[in-house]
Formats: sequence, C-alpha cells, structure tokens
Amino acid sequence: MAEVLVLVDHANGAVKKPAAEMLTLARRIGEPTAVFIGPGAETAKDLLARYGAEKIVAVSDPSVGEYLVAPQAEILAQLVEQSSPAAVLIPSNAAGKEIAARLAIKTGSGLITDAVDVQAGDGGPETTQSVFAGSYTVKAKVTTGTAIITVKPNSTAPEQASGAGAFEELTPQLSDAAKAAKITASEPKKKSGRPELNEAAIVVSGGRGTGGDFSPVEGFADSLGAAVGASRAAVDAGWYPHTSQVGQTGKQVSPQLYVAAGISGAIQHRAGMQTSKTIVAINKDEEAPIFELVDFGVVGDLFQVLPQATEAVQGKKG
Ligand code: FAD
Repeated sequence: MAEVLVLVDHANGAVKKPAAEMLTLARRIGEPTAVFIGPGAETAKDLLARYGAEKIVAVSDPSVGEYLVAPQAEILAQLVEQSSPAAVLIPSNAAGKEIAARLAIKTGSGLITDAVDVQAGDGGPETTQSVFAGSYTVKAKVTTGTAIITVKPNSTAPEQASGAGAFEELTPQLSDAAKAAKITASEPKKKSGRPELNEAAIVVSGGRGTGGDFSPVEGFADSLGAAVGASRAAVDAGWYPHTSQVGQTGKQVSPQLYVAAGISGAIQHRAGMQTSKTIVAINKDEEAPIFELVDFGVVGDLFQVLPQATEAVQGKKG
C-alpha cells in the first residue's frame, strides 16, 4: 500500500483534532505516516498510532522552531523525495497552506487546498474541495507528482484504528534559504478556555444585534463547549477581536453546528459559515436573510432566547 504523509498539527506537543481527522482520511488512501515537527513527539506517539499512524517521523531538533514555516516545507520535501508517497495531507490553516504551496513547488507536484473529503480513486486520491468560500464543491485530483492536499478541520469524524506507530527520529538538513527568516519573539495568546474557532465542533456567533453585550452569546457557547465567533459589524464596532470574525474577510468555519445570534446573514458573513453542517439563527426580524439558509430558525430577542437555551442545556447536563 502506498504511504501517505500527514503533517501533525500540534501546540507545543498537544496534538490537535485535525491531526486525528487527517489520519482517518489518510487510511482510506494508503498507510499513514505522521510527521511530527517540534517538541513532544514521544508523548504524542501513542495517540497518533491509535488513530492509525503506521509510522511516526519525528523532527525534534529545536532549531526548526526558531524559524517560520520554510523548514517544515523543506523537511516534507526531503521525505517526499525519499519515499514518493501517494499524498501529503496538511491542515488547511494559514501556516499549512503556505507549507503546502512551498512543498508543491519544491517537489513539482499538484496542490489541492481546502479539501473536505479524500477518497481512493483510479490512479490516486480524489478530493472534494470547497471553493469560492463554500459556494461550490468541486471534485479534483492531482495529475502530476505527489498529491499535496490541505484538509479543512471538521471534514470527517476521527476514527480509531490501531496503527503500528513505528517511531523514527529524523535530523533535517536545512538550507540557508529555509533559515532566512527567524522568529525573534513570541508571546502566548491569552487563553479563553474555549476551543479554536477553526476547529470547534460548535460555534456560537454574535452580531450587531448584541448591541455590544456578548454575555448571552458567550454563556450559551460555554454551556455547549463551543467557540465564539462574531460578524464584521461586531468586530468593526470593537466588541470582539478580529481573530473571531467569521466571513469573507475573517475565518471560514465548517462546524457541526453554527448558531448565529443577532446576525442578518449578509453574503460576506455567509461566505465564512455556509458549509456548517447544521445552522441555527436567532433574529428579531423574521425577514432577515439569514433565515434563507438555516436548518432551524428562532424569531425572537437573543437576550431572551439565549439565556433560556443556556438554562435548558445546563439543566440537561445537571
Ligand atoms: P446587521 O446587518 O446590522 O444585522 C444585525 C441583525 O441583528 C439584524 O438582522 C437584526 O434584525 C438583528 N437583531 C437586532 N437586535 C436583535 C436582538 N435583540 N435579538 C435578535 N436579533 C437582533 N461581514 C462579516 O460578518 N464577515 C466578513 O468577513 C465580512 N467581510 C466583508 C467584506 C467586504 C468587502 C464587505 C463590503 C463587507 C463585509 N462584511 C463582512 C460586512 C457585511 O456586509 C455585513 O455588513 C455584516 O455581516 C453585518 O453584520 P451583522 O449581521 O452583525 O449586522
């Protein structure tokens, strides 16, 4: 069976959910090798094997972390040259897309971004790709070189499958070009205790209808273990940070459940959330365009609806 490389997304060794999702997809098209760059591979290896990694290639050399993404692309290119895998799966986030683009150029391979599904096909993996901010899905396959594919978080439910998890340490040979930009300082983000917006299974977003009071939105999100998002109107008003903006000029999310509270449903907002599996809206105006794309809609005041919904969820848990 052909090898499939999976670049493991992690935060200081803590493996993120998209890694398990990509290992699950990788098993459909070949034998997954997890590529773990950075500290913590020893701790992560059992989990990676549990989600099907037959092999784990660890690059623990701390010097790699001193630079931006270029060394990661170079390490993957070395592995592609060594073993000619059928595909390389990379998380579809800002860093992942840059790594994928560099890797495709280095290896003369085709690149598919924002895949939401990967299946085995004749002569190589076939992907379903979400394009034009989720307005269309496209079936695509790579016809030249190794298939370099970036995969959107929440594309599939992670499935456990015991892989052999053979562990290998790689000492990379980095070129001067890969070390051309060095990280000079980094500060950890303030932790909210909520999941990352891109990766969350549930997102609760607030808009101008909150009037700047996000407490009902946050309360409902916390009752569900959800991430909090915001419309641009809310971000532009300074009520919520830009990192939480959902939409054309913000983040594009695809959670299992998206709740829009006090958001009208402008086309630019839809561009960031319309691929969500289930969409719920709460809006005072029954004519609001958001109701055109919802699975469930509540016509009502978010300041009444959200606290009641929060109480109901907490009641169920208690
Ligand atoms: P509004 O359109 O003002 O809607 C507020 C809604 O809240 C209304 O429907 C109202 O009925 C409802 N409401 C009011 N009070 C309550 C209440 N108490 N309870 C329940 N409902 C209530 N927008 C984005 O979101 N993301 C983007 O990335 C983005 N990018 C853009 C890029 C460009 C180039 C442009 C031109 C625009 C972009 N926009 C983006 C802006 C977009 O066009 C809208 O202006 C914006 O999405 C509106 O935000 P909103 O729905 O919160 O506000």
